[in-house]
Amino acid sequence: MSGVVKKGTTIFTGKPFVFLLYSEHRTTRCDNCLKSGKLSRCSGCQYVYYCDRNCQKESWPIHKIECACLKKAIIVVDMVRLLARVIIKLNQGGADEKSYYTEKNFRKFKDLMSNYSDIKIDMKRQRDFICLSGMLFQFLDEALMPNFVDLMGIYGRICTNYFNILDTKLNTIAVGLYLGASVIDHSCKPNVAAVFEGTTIIIRTLTDLPSLDWSKITISYIELLDSNKDRREKLHNLYYFWCNCERCKKEEPMAKAATCPNLSCESPCSIETDKCKKCSARISIKFKKTFQEVSALTASHLKGMEYLNDLSKILISKVCLMKQKNVMYKFNIQHLQTLQMAYTASTNLNCFKDAELYSKALLPGYLLYYGEVHPSTGLLYFTMAEIQLRLQKPNEALQLLDKAGTILKITHGDEHSLVKDKLNFLIYIATMMLRNTRSM
Ligand SMILES: [Zn+2]
Ligand SMILES: [Zn+2]
Ligand SMILES: [Zn+2]
Ligand SMILES: [Zn+2]
Repeated sequence: MSGVVKKGTTIFTGKPFVFLLYSEHRTTRCDNCLKSGKLSRCSGCQYVYYCDRNCQKESWPIHKIECACLKKAIIVVDMVRLLARVIIKLNQGGADEKSYYTEKNFRKFKDLMSNYSDIKIDMKRQRDFICLSGMLFQFLDEALMPNFVDLMGIYGRICTNYFNILDTKLNTIAVGLYLGASVIDHSCKPNVAAVFEGTTIIIRTLTDLPSLDWSKITISYIELLDSNKDRREKLHNLYYFWCNCERCKKEEPMAKAATCPNLSCESPCSIETDKCKKCSARISIKFKKTFQEVSALTASHLKGMEYLNDLSKILISKVCLMKQKNVMYKFNIQHLQTLQMAYTASTNLNCFKDAELYSKALLPGYLLYYGEVHPSTGLLYFTMAEIQLRLQKPNEALQLLDKAGTILKITHGDEHSLVKDKLNFLIYIATMMLRNTRSM
């Protein structure tokens, strides 16, 4: 295909080859369509939940076999269940399933990269694999078990190609393999992004492209609000390559920057140097030491935070943010990651005044590191608007919804439920609120 592809074009959409709802959402979301709502439990395994008979029926070809395994299982590990699902699917003729990404080009399961030789010498992955295959042996019928080499190939293909399936708020709820979509390479400055509607993946362009050349289409495999060094290490540890994309090739001095010790100067400073490039203020040994201490403290807190509850998260991020004040530059990645943590936790706890503050500090960082047209940036505007509504500020909400709409119509499209239902609903609420305050 030739010709310009405009930003906001869907270039791929499809159902997963295999997917799995993460067990933490097991009782609150349907195992088949991922929707939350009123659910009933499978009477066979008493483990999975469905909306209704239709969803149960749709899931049955795979679940029929899985159901018996779940029934006798003592513990259920998500990755074991996912491996089992792939094996069951391959046994049911899944190896022949084709997923087309152009009219003529398609991929089958065997076409997925397995990184076999890398995984074989990766100690951590080997340990995981041995452990998982032991559990799988207990879980799955022996007759279905592939041989060791095939199993490692399957494991490698899952590790290398899985997509996190996100809800409309971009929370990870499930994991899926999309054969066609996995042809897309990585870049830390991607030109497409994936969004989901239930289990359906929708891949849309974030920029105008001169033509639909699949070798030049890139998506991000990892979180973009991260430093060059951390992104590259993550990619290497998980996917066995050193990223050499446009963003990785550039230095990002602001990502590690300190504030200028001269508080009236807004320039970022490197603690590797002795004075500010802009105002020549001296960067003392004492200031450098403080910066390093704050940086180490932040790093240790950010690392442990994912296991904490929202209240602890907010308390710890507040301490970090206080220490970072007048030390870390506003675009310093560690600072932005702390703000991110504080923002999510305060929103979850309905502390809207705090959330408002954090979101405003976070936004410029999003625009810089995700870029203006990105699902995360669109969603930030969207959640900021929700907060303004909670704070009874419909004017501000409408402005933010306008920004959100401009982005989400590109990243998600007019037909996506986030735009069609949720965004339009908020616009309606804000408009009504505005009318009421005017008539009062
Ligand atoms: Zn359902
Ligand atoms: Zn069942
Ligand atoms: Zn990169
Ligand atoms: Zn300065």
